[in-house]
Amino acid sequence: MGILEVKNVGKRFGGLQALSDVNLSVAENTVHAIIGPNGAGKSTLLNCLIGKLIPDTGSVSFDGQSVLGRKPFEICQMGISRVFQTPEIFGDLTVMENMMIPGFAKRDGAFELNPMQRLLAQKDVIAHAEHALEDMGLADKRHMNAASMSRGDKRRLEIAMCLSQDPRLLLLDEPTAGMARADTNNTIDLLKRIKDERDITIAIIEHDMHVVFSLAERITVLAQGTPLVEDTPDNIKGHPKVREAYLGE
Ligand code: ADP
Ligand code: MG
Repeated sequence: MGILEVKNVGKRFGGLQALSDVNLSVAENTVHAIIGPNGAGKSTLLNCLIGKLIPDTGSVSFDGQSVLGRKPFEICQMGISRVFQTPEIFGDLTVMENMMIPGFAKRDGAFELNPMQRLLAQKDVIAHAEHALEDMGLADKRHMNAASMSRGDKRRLEIAMCLSQDPRLLLLDEPTAGMARADTNNTIDLLKRIKDERDITIAIIEHDMHVVFSLAERITVLAQGTPLVEDTPDNIKGHPKVREAYLGE
């Protein structure tokens, strides 16, 4: 049993069957990549995992508990955090201010606490935020305005924001999109390190095969809303169906 189990998930948008019969099992403490051409349903699948979309059919469970029908903050409290494909940072806030938001979002209802409890919650949010900033190599940029960061730093800030929620499963949607190669490699190294140090599971949607083959231990290839094959990176590289459907050979 994987920490994340997706069974027979289907999702339709009007006349378009975006996902059908998706089965996916992500083993604990691994990096599992989901690849596939544009429009394959990768982001839709991710949205079904975090409560942003509700699948029409099938089940999604995390650590043995169903996530379906739960609100995004409840899923976050279960231990799942995700980075969106498009940046979601607040440019007019500082790096540290951005870092505080996910911690409070996870503690939805924290403002009903009494003042002492609120202060303690805030201290805890700050401690997690600082730890996560260090993990992403951004500690010295904490007072910077988020808008003035480099593109690579912005994307690493988003990952740090997720890590501040202390997830057991981190979901990444093209975390290195738009990065230069050196920045990409830096991000790969940071992700490898946090995976080991924090003992977390990572599911990553990625177009860049260099990133996929540097990080992933298992790869699921999605094509037209359904898994084509799931295997180790070495086997995926040589798989004729994958070369045909995905690499265009
Ligand atoms: P990927 O992330 O693999 O590129 P998506 O999951 O974004 O693919 O999209 C899968 C398919 O579903 C695409 O054809 C896309 O146009 C469609 N789609 C995605 N989200 C919506 C939506 N909210 N409404 C209608 N169609 C959607
Ligand atoms: Mg997508």
